[in-house]
Amino acid sequence: MFSKILIANRGEIALRVQRACREMGIATVAVHSTADADAMHVRLADESLCIGPPLARDSYLNMPALLSAALITGAEAIHPGYGFLSENADFAEMVEAHGLAFIGPSPTHIRMMGDKITAKTTMAELGVPLVPGSDGEVPDVETAMAVARLIGCPVLVKAAAGGGGRGMKVARTLDEVAEAFSTARAEAAAAFGNNAVYIEKYLDKPRHIELQVLGDNYGKVVHFGERDCSLQRRHQKLLEEAGSPGITEAERTALGAIATQALEKFGYRNAGTLEFLYQDGQFAFIEMNTRLQVEHPVTEMVTGVDLVREQIRIAYGEALGYGQSDVRVSGHAIECRITAEDPETFTPSPGTISMFHAPGGLGVRLDSAIYTGYRVPSHYDSLVAKLIVHGRTRPEAIARMHRALEEFAIAGIKTTIPLHLRILADPAFQSGHYDIHWLENFVSGGR
Ligand code: ADP
Repeated sequence: MFSKILIANRGEIALRVQRACREMGIATVAVHSTADADAMHVRLADESLCIGPPLARDSYLNMPALLSAALITGAEAIHPGYGFLSENADFAEMVEAHGLAFIGPSPTHIRMMGDKITAKTTMAELGVPLVPGSDGEVPDVETAMAVARLIGCPVLVKAAAGGGGRGMKVARTLDEVAEAFSTARAEAAAAFGNNAVYIEKYLDKPRHIELQVLGDNYGKVVHFGERDCSLQRRHQKLLEEAGSPGITEAERTALGAIATQALEKFGYRNAGTLEFLYQDGQFAFIEMNTRLQVEHPVTEMVTGVDLVREQIRIAYGEALGYGQSDVRVSGHAIECRITAEDPETFTPSPGTISMFHAPGGLGVRLDSAIYTGYRVPSHYDSLVAKLIVHGRTRPEAIARMHRALEEFAIAGIKTTIPLHLRILADPAFQSGHYDIHWLENFVSGGR
């Protein structure tokens, strides 16, 4: 096994990876910006190195600094976490060119799935159903209009290089297509340096359902069931569940079979997530994430599998060593993403945490890098904690999450805990009958 791994990330996910390494007897190297010198992921690592100033592009996105840090410390592999360089094929290539292991898929697969147009064509060829839309890139307004006429409005213009919910514009009627097209194109160019866009039918009441997979280097792919991430605000997930309250066991099995067969043909290795929209009994692929997801813990809670440990084993060259029938999904898990934001206006609330008390008890897990006296920097993502619970049933998990959120005390910054408590208490959430548009309506007072 590797003896030392460099973790190219910060915050809760750096700590999460560190925990897996420690249990596997692997030494860890933490990297940090000057703004994170006193961060928990630095304090708990075996070694740490400063890689640059606060701005992410100068530190956590600074490839030469990260590679030097790995070489200086004698790390044998790099775990990228999520965000930052986790889906950067050039970085993965550079890591491998320096004789280090990249804990993730092959650079070729990262590149292919990073372009959502290529991702969709590839998956279609592998027999995965898609959301109806344009046949590849939409190069001009005339084509956009033609596609919209063909599939019917509303349509969604999406950036090929999109991520984090950016570069997406809805056109409700044909009159809105030209503007949606040019705005999405301009946004895509500014945000991703790539103005390629494509068009999809805008579904009116889908659920976001995603499937966690792991593939080894020997052609075996196994899935770990689905996560329901329909509770979103501005296309960003706020609360996730495993399994989905909206699909049946038979649908899960069928989706799993399509996905694993496709990815075995593709030769996919390491962790990945296939994202689908589900409406009227149909699954339609939207994109694949070639990395660990923020919401991976809900899958870990219902399967008992440490996904980071599996990622490390696979990157080292070990075979999965188990098959689909060995994966058991038991009970129900929920994750709340707690961010340093005002729970009503969503304005960021960075600052110093003057007091912090973590919830606990049966079936409660907290993935967080905060502590009393910690100053939440304004330079990065506002996620401060992921609270995850497991229960034998969905109602038990809901009651447990409610109880754990009430135990959770954070002073000095505002957090989204009050919003999560409101969601959990809502009858529509409790019934499980919600789609991707539900939360937007809920927070704007529509409910
Ligand atoms: P990103 O990579 O930016 O997260 P995705 O393609 O994963 O973009 O889409 C993010 C979210 O946007 C989805 O979870 C869903 O809520 C919404 N969305 C994406 N495509 C569609 C569509 N065709 N119809 C309706 N909603 C969509």
